[in-house]
Amino acid sequence: MRAFNFSAGPAMLPEAVMRKAQAEFLNWNNTGMSVMEMSHRSKEFMEVAHHMEATLREIMGIPSNYKVLFVHGGASLQFAGVPMNLTEADDVVDYVNTGVWSQKAIKEASRYVNVNEVAKAENSIPAPETWRLSPEAKYLHICQNETITGVEYQSAPISDKPIISDFSSTVLSRPINVSDYGVIYAGAQKNIGPAGLAIVVVREDLIGQARSDTPNLMNWQTYNDNESMFNTPATFSWYLAGLVFDWIKEQGGVDAMGEINQRKSKKLYDLIDASEFFYNEVDPSVRSWMNVTFKLKNTDLDAAFLEESKAAGLLSLKGHKAYGGMRASIYNAMPEEGVDALVQFMKNFEAKYA
Ligand SMILES: *Cc1c(COP(=O)(O)O)cnc(C)c1O
Repeated sequence: MRAFNFSAGPAMLPEAVMRKAQAEFLNWNNTGMSVMEMSHRSKEFMEVAHHMEATLREIMGIPSNYKVLFVHGGASLQFAGVPMNLTEADDVVDYVNTGVWSQKAIKEASRYVNVNEVAKAENSIPAPETWRLSPEAKYLHICQNETITGVEYQSAPISDKPIISDFSSTVLSRPINVSDYGVIYAGAQKNIGPAGLAIVVVREDLIGQARSDTPNLMNWQTYNDNESMFNTPATFSWYLAGLVFDWIKEQGGVDAMGEINQRKSKKLYDLIDASEFFYNEVDPSVRSWMNVTFKLKNTDLDAAFLEESKAAGLLSLKGHKAYGGMRASIYNAMPEEGVDALVQFMKNFEAKYA
């Protein structure tokens, strides 16, 4: 029996994808091999790779002047990769600080370039009119969805600089306009597939400017020139990501995902807002559709909440230690029934202890 797993990442994968992978695990497409055992240079694996990229381009609506790179090192390596690929050491770059992931990006970038923090907030996104932008900045960096507090941009900010956005915990969760951004990057283990892979969607004119001492495997040009196969990629993660992209397309693409995700998150926020027992601290206009955080007014009941939810098959609801409370990560693969079960559990818990 599968539980509903609310982990922030690695997170649930669609059951249909897991079953397909299981069915073809030992013998992929009558090759007599697992996809894991295949040369990444083989014709068969190249087909997997090309299909995966084509499907991602289709479901995300990626224009032809954007390149799609499949990279190592997770989203975190791009915290350094972004400044190394786009700046020289004495340049200035603008970063909006909306929480822990913004701060990690700022800290890493600061090792390579002069970072100007344009605004800072924890449970909201400061109004863009208040951002202290630097005229000479090479780019503007944002974190599209702060996974720990559950703060999400509902649209792209407006800027005449390239916007670089960390989409790790919201990629493919709703329709976006890729051309609003210069670079979109994301680790796989939330909405794409298993860990071990990250994607960089980059406007082609932003490739080819890396510092001369950039390691080959951090240089976007290297990935672009070698179909992301300068060295051996995480082949099994690529394959599974491809199955997830096919699944999203079958569900009706990101338009359908967006409708479902908005509905799922609204069920939780409506319950929390109506409750005397639970609360959410995030500005309602920027609440995340992917990570719904909530706290119990009586924190003495936190342990009971976690224990009883686990016993009910609702797993990993403990909030991040940097923020506390609870967090329900409800990415694309979390079925709506999982959210319904959590809503019912929370109502029962409140009735029992209120
Ligand atoms: C999970 C996460 C990361 C880190 O991803 P890794 O792939 O583990 O490096 C970065 N940014 C955000 C917003 C995340 O949610």
